[in-house]
Amino acid sequence: MRIGRAAVVTDTGKRRLGNEDAYVFEPPLFAIADGMGGARAGEIAADLAASALEEASAQTRDATQLSAIIAEANRRVWERSRADPATAGMGTTVTIALVDAPAGTISFGHVGDSRAYRLRDGALEQVTTDHSLVAELVESGVLTPEEAERHPQRSAITKAVGTEPSVDADVFTRDTLPGDLFLLCSDGLSDMLSEEEIASAIEGADRDPEAAGDALVAAANARGGEDNITVVLFEIVDGDAAEPHPEQDRGIGATTVPPATGEPTDKERAEASEPAAVATPGAGEPEPIRHGAGAGGRIAALALLVSVLAIGLLVLYLAVR
Ligand code: MN
Repeated sequence: MRIGRAAVVTDTGKRRLGNEDAYVFEPPLFAIADGMGGARAGEIAADLAASALEEASAQTRDATQLSAIIAEANRRVWERSRADPATAGMGTTVTIALVDAPAGTISFGHVGDSRAYRLRDGALEQVTTDHSLVAELVESGVLTPEEAERHPQRSAITKAVGTEPSVDADVFTRDTLPGDLFLLCSDGLSDMLSEEEIASAIEGADRDPEAAGDALVAAANARGGEDNITVVLFEIVDGDAAEPHPEQDRGIGATTVPPATGEPTDKERAEASEPAAVATPGAGEPEPIRHGAGAGGRIAALALLVSVLAIGLLVLYLAVR
């Protein structure tokens, strides 16, 4: 078994000015963080947590490490909020999926109301349990699931990364089979679409992660796009990975993640407002995708194009004079 195609799409949605969702795309580790807090604090919290997970991803290979990396994310967000009054009270959800393809298992680490789903044989199953007020009210029989979906307090979460000195994350491991497709998403998706709609959007895209990601974001926006929408999709397929993990690329001196300053540049802000869809061809495991990657490539390509044009014009000028 191995990870097949995978993709991530994040979108600001129709109502929010900024995107306070962050993601980690470092196969075999995938994660979502949905920040909360006044001003831009939610964005800072989500980025701090995602950076902590991203840095730890190369050394994270089994479920026993998930609590520790969430604890580290918690520590960074908590300490920043203590040091910077403008960010007091900020926090973030974290939902991690760590694939152990040879063992046929996926481990999850989870805090808050972002979700992990498994699509198997056309049936979508929520793998994580929301740490939310409405989930607790459903659990205790006060609300029906249908009432919870429309409840005005449905985005109130009972547990977050970074709002307390420590956090107790859910960590658990599930079996997986070839043909399974996993979805991690922020509540900007799950509040807008029912599970049936999520399943049919994925099936309607022939379970292609990139096309399904675009379809899910478009559907959530069509429904109002009231919050930031982030989806990570990956499939589990038959066969052995020729190269199980791109660890060799992560040695000392290899590309590192951007510094977690919490102060995004204008470029990063601009990126946050446009959908960033990334997917990889079916061969082998997907390549890691880092925050802020993509624009650099576009700028490099643009620079190359401009220099080719400039040389062309110079040659033309010299030829005609
Ligand atoms: Mn959200």
